[in-house]
Amino acid sequence: MKPIDLRSDTVTKPSVGMRRVMMDADVGDDVYGEDPTVNRLESLAAEMLGTETALFCTSGTQSNLLALMAQCERGDEYIVGQYAHTYRYEGGGAAVLGSIQPQPLDFEEDGTLNLKKVSGAIKPDDHHYARTKLFCLENTHMGKVLPIDYLKAAKNLADDKGLMMHLDGARVFNASVKLGVDVKEITRYFDTISCCLSKGLGAPVGSVLCGSVETIKKARRWRKLLGGGMRQAGILAAGGIYALTHNIERLKDDHANAMELAKGLARINGIEVNAKIVQTNILFADIKADMKKLCSFMKERGVIIDSSNHLRLVTHLDISEEDIEETLKAFREFLVKPF
Ligand SMILES: *Cc1c(COP(=O)(O)O)cnc(C)c1O
Repeated sequence: MKPIDLRSDTVTKPSVGMRRVMMDADVGDDVYGEDPTVNRLESLAAEMLGTETALFCTSGTQSNLLALMAQCERGDEYIVGQYAHTYRYEGGGAAVLGSIQPQPLDFEEDGTLNLKKVSGAIKPDDHHYARTKLFCLENTHMGKVLPIDYLKAAKNLADDKGLMMHLDGARVFNASVKLGVDVKEITRYFDTISCCLSKGLGAPVGSVLCGSVETIKKARRWRKLLGGGMRQAGILAAGGIYALTHNIERLKDDHANAMELAKGLARINGIEVNAKIVQTNILFADIKADMKKLCSFMKERGVIIDSSNHLRLVTHLDISEEDIEETLKAFREFLVKPF
């Protein structure tokens, strides 16, 4: 039986159709710029996200780091959320490899950064301070979609203060599908956008960094330095093209499944979940139970979850409506007779 793995949307496996195009991909040496499939992916991503050009990266972590290093120099600073991936979950890469200082700020409930606080965190032009260069946002953040009006206001602030804008858009297509808008309505406010192909979009590997020719040229140089210059990477890029052409619209099914799961869980005694705040494919729940025991109980029933106290459940293209039913059944059984 196929496990119902709700830990992350990174666990998706390439579909038969995706594997077929990967196997048949035309390839060349991408370090020479000669891989036709990588070139095709980069043009497609740029066109879809509305930038001049794009760069195929090994991961979202690399893509975010390249965006920072291409736009900030040693002694520069980026403003970022306290729990943002680009600050908290990337090994301190910007500081370690870029000599770039983060200025973290607390997120608001809705996943935005308060623009008054952002403005207040911008350093004056004075030799005591790091030079504030870049403002980073994340969309979606913990499954939450940033309002378009907020993006507009953030961009106005950045323009006013001479900051560049980077979007960690690991799940930016979840945001556009949720809002029912072309993704460009979100990405147009940013100088650079990083988008994961390997999450809900279902590719096995890779992210794209989108931006101007000038910025992407710098990013390409840093990518080589970081060991990210890949050779016949068209095999991977083909999966990315397939992801961008087949797996975007269907994200709404993941959102619907997450909502069903949230509503079902909310009806179970002993589980706290606010279905109202579930917007896309990620939901959080609090359970009055020994999480280790819960995990092993669920595992016996084919459902894989993380054992952290604040339970995070993520739906994706390998999770069906029936899987949601099975999952709810298992949670119910566990909470009826907790042990
Ligand atoms: C997953 C993720 C990334 C990048 O992760 P990789 O595993 O390096 O591809 C970046 N930002 C956010 C918000 C993410 O969820």
